[in-house]
Amino acid sequence: MSFEIRDRDLLARIGRLETKGGIIETPLLLPVINPVVQLITPKTIQETFDCRALITNAYIVKKHFEDEAVEKGIHDFLDVKGVIMTDSGAYQILVYGNVEVASEEIVRYQEEINTDIATILDVPTGWIASKQHAQHTVDETLSRAKELAKIKTREDIIWVGPVQGGRYLDLVAQSAREMGKLPFQIHALGSPTSVMEQYLFDILVDMIITAKKNLPPERPLHLFGAGHPFMFALAVALGCDLFDSAAYAIYAREERYMTEYGTTRLNELKYFPCSCPVCNKNDPQSMRALPKVERQKMLAQHNLHVSFSELRRIKQAIIKGRLWEHLELRAHGHPAILQALKNLKKHREYLETQSPVTKSSGLFFFSSIGLSRPEVVRHRERLFKRYSPPKEAKTLVLLPQTQMKPFHKSREHRRALKAIQQRLGDKIGEVHICTYAAPFGVAPQELDEVYPLSQYEIATPFDAETIGYTAKQVSNYIENTNYMGVVLLEGFETWKGKIAKACKKACEKKKVYFKALYVENPWNKNALDDLVMIVQKLFL
Ligand SMILES: [Zn+2]
Repeated sequence: MSFEIRDRDLLARIGRLETKGGIIETPLLLPVINPVVQLITPKTIQETFDCRALITNAYIVKKHFEDEAVEKGIHDFLDVKGVIMTDSGAYQILVYGNVEVASEEIVRYQEEINTDIATILDVPTGWIASKQHAQHTVDETLSRAKELAKIKTREDIIWVGPVQGGRYLDLVAQSAREMGKLPFQIHALGSPTSVMEQYLFDILVDMIITAKKNLPPERPLHLFGAGHPFMFALAVALGCDLFDSAAYAIYAREERYMTEYGTTRLNELKYFPCSCPVCNKNDPQSMRALPKVERQKMLAQHNLHVSFSELRRIKQAIIKGRLWEHLELRAHGHPAILQALKNLKKHREYLETQSPVTKSSGLFFFSSIGLSRPEVVRHRERLFKRYSPPKEAKTLVLLPQTQMKPFHKSREHRRALKAIQQRLGDKIGEVHICTYAAPFGVAPQELDEVYPLSQYEIATPFDAETIGYTAKQVSNYIENTNYMGVVLLEGFETWKGKIAKACKKACEKKKVYFKALYVENPWNKNALDDLVMIVQKLFL
């Protein structure tokens, strides 16, 4: 088996996973097939949605159709082609307590029915578990994982090693580390179902990041029970590659209609906000009038349409390097996702180390939530660790950002530069003209064409947190460099004196000269004349 990564953005990746049932592309959604009751047949799902992989529960298959599934093989038994993944019944343990099947039995059974991707019988931690019980589930899952090598007889089946630990992040880390040492080809994060049912996505962020940090990065990660399209972008961005969805059918039975932003009851809809074949041909009123089974079938189909199209949108965003923008869009569709995105702040350094450095498209910066994005963190780190100003530079002149980029090529900056040059003559090299720009902080002139400093758009007026962050970066820059003086031109309306305040404090600390020029419009002629005069005075 091989997992080849083709494209990346944030922790997300588009990959190709080779299985004996065929090659599948990740991120991938596997609709859950319940072999006992099924609204839409597996074959219809495959044909309608170009769906390459399905997941079913080996425990339920064994319980109800033990010999039949072995004789036919799971593919013929479900009447589908392509890739089949089986879960082991661990979820049933969580719901019904112990399952009357041994771990060894369920491993053998999955081999016998010829599944493509199989799961060991792990012990789910669940959500309300005590720490002691959680530790037990981690240990027991690990010991069953170790037994796998002795039990299995085939080498062509991909085995999934679930990570347990629940809400105890230290246990999640331990579980991931230990499972990662064993020869699994895929890992899965167990127990997030109740986290997701309760919309505790900020906790889910911590769980996924903890697992990712401790697992071998080249192995795909499956997120069990994450079937709602409104959280796919978040999970994919955090590095989840595979999902299973039972939600499409469960919601349909409850007459609930999924959207990329959340869920609505069919009863509450007057219009369908969707253009899938089901919604195109029907309206909510006519659908409500249909017999129950037919109605639920249609809802299930719509739910799958929404789920698959959201994943396609996410994949396109990964290729274009716009996953963050997509994620922010989704975050503004539901407060629980927004909260999770805000919680990403504490993982922003990790996110930065894992994200690609260059992209084909520029950034859109909407609000302070974007301060956690890798590009912002990376600029800060690089300026701090790798950059030093030109040796001859004695005075730092800080100009505000302009609409046009790169900043130093804007009409405003060229005018300022020209005026200073005229007065200083060959001493111009001693002046270092830089831009301060939200959200990055200082953009040295010689770097402002480097990605993403001239490839981003930001909404104005800036919010308070963005202004505060930018000011902090400016003061950090001054503290980490050795100019003899700093001259600042500040547009008061935009920056409310915050940059000046930060500069002043930093200059006092460094015991260097500081002069700020507050003006309403930094680019009018008088302001520029004053600036030039201040700079010139420094060289007299
Ligand atoms: Zn639809």
